[in-house]
Amino acid sequence: MKRDTPHILLVNPWIHDFAAYDVWAKPLGLLTLASILRFHGFNITYLDCLDRFHPKASQTDPYARNGRGPYLKTKIPKPGGLEDIPRNFSRYGIKEKWFREDLRCIETPDLVLMTSMMTYWYTGVQETINVIKETFSDVTIVLGGIYASLCYEHALNHSGAHRIVTGPGEKHLLEMVGECTGFSVNAKFDPDDLDTYPYPAFEIQKKINYIPLQTSKGCPFACKYCASHYLNPKRMVRSPESVVEEIRYHLKKYKVKDFVFYDDALLVDAEKHAIPMLEGIINAGLKIRFHTPNAVHIREISRQTARLMFQAGFKTLRLGLETTSLEIRNDLDKKVTVTEFTQAVTCLKEAGFDKNMIGVYLLAGLPGQQTELIENSIQSVKQTGATPILAYYSPIPKTSLWDQAVASSRYPLESDPIFTNNAILPCQNEPFSWKTISRLKKLAAK
Ligand code: SF4
Repeated sequence: MKRDTPHILLVNPWIHDFAAYDVWAKPLGLLTLASILRFHGFNITYLDCLDRFHPKASQTDPYARNGRGPYLKTKIPKPGGLEDIPRNFSRYGIKEKWFREDLRCIETPDLVLMTSMMTYWYTGVQETINVIKETFSDVTIVLGGIYASLCYEHALNHSGAHRIVTGPGEKHLLEMVGECTGFSVNAKFDPDDLDTYPYPAFEIQKKINYIPLQTSKGCPFACKYCASHYLNPKRMVRSPESVVEEIRYHLKKYKVKDFVFYDDALLVDAEKHAIPMLEGIINAGLKIRFHTPNAVHIREISRQTARLMFQAGFKTLRLGLETTSLEIRNDLDKKVTVTEFTQAVTCLKEAGFDKNMIGVYLLAGLPGQQTELIENSIQSVKQTGATPILAYYSPIPKTSLWDQAVASSRYPLESDPIFTNNAILPCQNEPFSWKTISRLKKLAAK
């Protein structure tokens, strides 16, 4: 007999890759969907294949490295076409046996909702879905998230999910769940107003070692290598007061010290958003640490924003510079000039940030990019007294750089997202070379 309220299983799938490390990566979208479902009376269960603190894993300090840390991993065969890459390939996350046991322990759900991240991690999604199907063969599985949104056709044909949803999930969640379960409810929040969303359901995780925050969605820029504008076409911004209120709430409830901003454009329109928000945090006297693993916009860093970020407790700041090479810059984005970058670093240092706190992302492996230009960018960043961080380019469908990436790649990118893995530098002209990567890494770290 059908229960009155449907039981929804939410799953964060495994990652398959040459390398993966948990740099404050929580499935915030899925945790938000979980809270919306709960808020509307659904029963939910959450299984996280990437849980570093699974009860069967050897226990580590969840607060070490401000919440970052290595995933568990199991070596698996390399995917077809990448056998020649001289690196191990692994399933990152909990052991398969533990996942099967966890699935057997829960009541059969009425629906499974799964998220997805990088397009080239889809084999991890496939494997997760296969295991779920072996336990719950008759249950509908719905896949959303980044891979599903960017590679809809591929996901439909290859993921194994029964239904693929694209774009931000919150808007159509209740309607879709209603269609799948026959249980319809009226929305008690406005999908177009982030301030009306219930807080993400952090309590369904086994450990809460830091809190991810999303104070805005989308980005007004359209850099050629980034899919932000496709994934979140509508920019939505929360009120500064509601963000401060949420931080106070989580701090009181979970006693965590680390908060991580997931915004794509945290500092954009700072006068209306970031500045009052940072002032609110400072005035509230909250003794916490903030981190921005997603780059902030350099152009928005002034004496004032730098000072406020430092006073508010920002400890890890990442800047999206991408390159100092003018030829590349003009073709890729218009988001910053080298002069603006130098001024921003000066403001940050005057405010109190040291070299280790200021990490500057530089793209490596862009179509046709000469290694020499990456080396020049590394040197220029070092001269300012900030820390260069190499971000290897992954070609992303639906971005303006995609066609150029396809044309320049030595792999058939359009035939299989597996070839877009940034670890193999798919758009480099010459074959994969550890020597080049090691040289660049050493130069950045020296
Ligand atoms: S500024 Fe950042 S988030 Fe915005 S489009 Fe460019 S890379 Fe993407």
